[in-house]
Order: sequence, then C-alpha cells, then structure tokens
Amino acid sequence: MKMILLGAPGAGKGTQATRIAEKYGIVHISTGDIFRANIKGGTEIGKLAKSYIDAGKLVPDSVTCEIVKDRLSKDDVRNGYLLDGFPRSLYQAEELNKFADIDLCLNLEVDSSLIMDRICGRRVCSCGESYHVSTLNGSNICAKCGNELYRRDDDNPETVKARLSTYNVMTAPLIAYYAAQNKLASVVCGTKTPDEVFEAVCEVLDK
Ligand code: ADP
Ligand code: ZN
Repeated sequence: MKMILLGAPGAGKGTQATRIAEKYGIVHISTGDIFRANIKGGTEIGKLAKSYIDAGKLVPDSVTCEIVKDRLSKDDVRNGYLLDGFPRSLYQAEELNKFADIDLCLNLEVDSSLIMDRICGRRVCSCGESYHVSTLNGSNICAKCGNELYRRDDDNPETVKARLSTYNVMTAPLIAYYAAQNKLASVVCGTKTPDEVFEAVCEVLDK
C-alpha cells in the first residue's frame, strides 16, 4: 500500500498516520517531521526550512522533493508507505509521479471553524503523540511515554492563518487532482474523536 494522507493543518493527519502505519505495517513519512528533526539538529536544510515554516509557507520544492525522493529509495518502504504532508501542491504531485506509483489518497475533511482552536491548543510530544490542552488538566506530560509536552513554534494564530491560506491555495487542488484519477477516498471528521476517525479510516482501507 502506497498512500498519501491529505488534509488541512489540524485535520489530525499526524495522529491518524501514526495509527495507520502501526496497524498496516507501513512506513510513516512526514515531511513536517523531517524538517523539524533537521531544525533540531541544526542542519543546513533545517536552517533553510525554519524561515518558511515559521511564516506558514511551503519549503521550496527543490529541497522538499529531493528529501522525499531520497527517503523513498530506502529499503524499508518496500512493504508500503504513508506520505503525510507530501505532496502539498500540484507541482509536488507531478514530481512524485516521476518516482512513485501511488495507490490511494486519503483525504481527512475537517470543519475549518475548528482548526484554529485545535492547533493553537495543541501540545505535542517527541514520541509523536499530540494532545489538546483542554484534556490535559494542567498536566504537561505525555500519557504514552512520560516525556514533557511542548507547543510547536508554528502553532500560533498568526502562522496558522498563513498555513491555512497556503493550504487553500496550494494544497486543496490536490483533492480534485486525485479524484480525477479515481484514487481519492475521503473521511469526514466532523466532531468525531480520533478513535472514531480511525475506525472510519480503517473501513476505507480494508475495502
Ligand atoms: P501541518 O499539516 O499541521 O501544517 P506539517 O508538520 O505537515 O504540519 O508541516 C509543517 C510545515 O512544514 C508546513 O507549514 C510547511 O512549512 C513545511 N512543509 C511540510 N511538508 C511540506 C511540503 N511537502 N512542501 C513544502 N513545505 C512543507
Ligand atoms: Zn510521548
């Protein structure tokens, strides 16, 4: 299974991707995670990516496409993979076509009025888990691994606004793009809990 996970910022891509990868035994590849690891490690890619990420803009294609191409050349993707956060534009989708043959694009549909609160209240853990402050009862510790939670630098109202507009202009056209290729499946998240969304996702994937 070679698949893409599509959805606006805050749709819950990361949460669902972790679960899908675990259940179906495929590799989870998140370009956002790759960039954040590079920023943390102080690499050249990290230095370049940070200014774009903080502004809510796309990191240049030359860098992003090269990272994904390189990652997909590794042995561990043989049993399948899940791309989370890539492609993010029609250009990237066309580039991806040159080195990969995607089976399915799973689109997480989220109500745009929920996004701002979801992202600005989000706390994440280095293990990949994320939480919303409203459910933490003042705790700042990951229930899964015990590490301290933190807020992503780009999870502030200003940057979220820019990320949403980048999504609407650059990324949303991919929905029609994959629909036209009969590769699109959508899951409506509405007010569903992550567990309920995952159930709906599995129903689609088991078909
Ligand atoms: P979210 O989907 O919640 O906005 P991500 O972790 O997927 O978060 O991405 C964070 C940021 O990393 C994006 O706002 C963008 O700046 C950068 N980024 C991630 N994936 C790509 C990509 N495919 N192309 C360009 N930039 C990307
Ligand atoms: Zn954790």
